[in-house]
Amino acid sequence: MADIQRSKIKALLGATPGTDVLVKGWVRTKRGNKDIAFIALNDGSTVFNIQIVVDKTKFDDGLLQKITTGACIGVEGKLVESVGSGQAVEIQADKIELFGECDPVRYPLQKKDTSFEFLRTIGHFRPRTNTFGAILRIRNQMAFAIHEYFHGKGFVYWNSPLITASDCEGAGEMFQVTTLDLNNLPRNKKGEIDYKEDFFGKLTSLTVSGQLEAEIGAMALGEVYTFGPTFRAENSNTPRHLAEFWMVEPEMAFYDIKDNMDLAEDFIKHLIRYALTNCYDDVKFLNDKYDNELIARLESILADSFVRLPYTEGIKILEKAVADGHKFEYPVAWGIDLQSEHERFLVEQHFRKPVILTDYPKDIKAFYMKQNEDGKTVRAMDVLFPKIGEIIGGSEREADIVKLENRIKELEMSRGTLEWYLDLRKFGSAPHSGFGLGFERLLLFVTGMSNIRDVIAFPRTPKNAEY
Ligand code: ATP
Ligand code: MN
Repeated sequence: MADIQRSKIKALLGATPGTDVLVKGWVRTKRGNKDIAFIALNDGSTVFNIQIVVDKTKFDDGLLQKITTGACIGVEGKLVESVGSGQAVEIQADKIELFGECDPVRYPLQKKDTSFEFLRTIGHFRPRTNTFGAILRIRNQMAFAIHEYFHGKGFVYWNSPLITASDCEGAGEMFQVTTLDLNNLPRNKKGEIDYKEDFFGKLTSLTVSGQLEAEIGAMALGEVYTFGPTFRAENSNTPRHLAEFWMVEPEMAFYDIKDNMDLAEDFIKHLIRYALTNCYDDVKFLNDKYDNELIARLESILADSFVRLPYTEGIKILEKAVADGHKFEYPVAWGIDLQSEHERFLVEQHFRKPVILTDYPKDIKAFYMKQNEDGKTVRAMDVLFPKIGEIIGGSEREADIVKLENRIKELEMSRGTLEWYLDLRKFGSAPHSGFGLGFERLLLFVTGMSNIRDVIAFPRTPKNAEY
């Protein structure tokens, strides 16, 4: 097979027949009769297979027997118009090279059980299924679309640290990073663990958000965005939470909350439009196999403006629903942190379109959010989506040093690791805003999957860290 260059199956499926080609990939199925074998071959470049037609008289029987589902082969042959239905072109095999056999008895993807639960137990083979191929290609395209979107707007790609000494949310959800010997911890005179002895000489953790450091970027470069992994040791075993997930966090100087909402809406619509245009085959595959409303749901997001509604109004709607007999698992009252059942009620039943909820009570939001004049609420904005609930969380940031310091005192937070953050307000402060989009939540929406473990190759959840 020396002189022909390997082609990707995706390219061949759209190519003009008549040339000699070389493909390499994994056998999805083999069928046929005593004269001819038909091999469906896939190389990961597309959800579609290419059909290889094998004239059995031309090949060694022993070789043909080893071409089973899952085996890896290279095929050289002529690309011809297909006589069968279902494909435009196929390859008439001249040479076949077997790269890797695949024992049909022990290969787990041969099994009848192709449930998502089973596939999660074989993460090293899962990407070879049509479904996960489609999901992982969409994931790749969405990552590209994110960079392209911000690049086109002149944002600077900013990398906040993954190992951090600051706790963004002030919550105890962080994974500690240490090289101390856990069986023999150094202690100070008070008997506390002496982090001076640790690798960084202080207590460090994996970041729960790149936002605080992204504000440094916005205060220098104007408009920045992060796109990287984020870690939260939240022990909530839900279909929407991972312990390691990817987040996109734009942070912009001179944006108020309205500019922030405009950006969030435009951004997410851009990504969905991009998926429909550039991942259509994969989205269509998922639509037809699992969720017949997927494409319609994606298109519906583009059709309309998102609702923009203050939290207080949202609570009134929920209270009215309760009064009218709607049953929620969690009680509704002003001041509650909305549960996903509440968010989904507003989006799916009441408005039937995405909702940006604003002006949340300050007590359920982070210390850095800009305080409203009413003294009770902050300029937060959560974007709520059908089937997902919260997909984006953001806010205008408090730019006033006095108000920010007061809030830190009120919450009895230690300023120790935040002095640099306060400095941003003392030296050339600017109004600014930003938000965080959970990449896997976006992928849940775009792929129609219902469990976040199925939109990332290696999900990390409580008691689960394979590979
Ligand atoms: P939730 O209430 O759903 O746990 P949150 O309020 O903790 O979300 P933020 O801290 O605002 O979320 O984070 C920004 C975005 O990151 C969220 O809107 C969501 O899309 C995503 N996100 C948050 N936590 C997780 C997680 N554990 N796994 C996956 N995505 C997450
Ligand atoms: Mn959370």
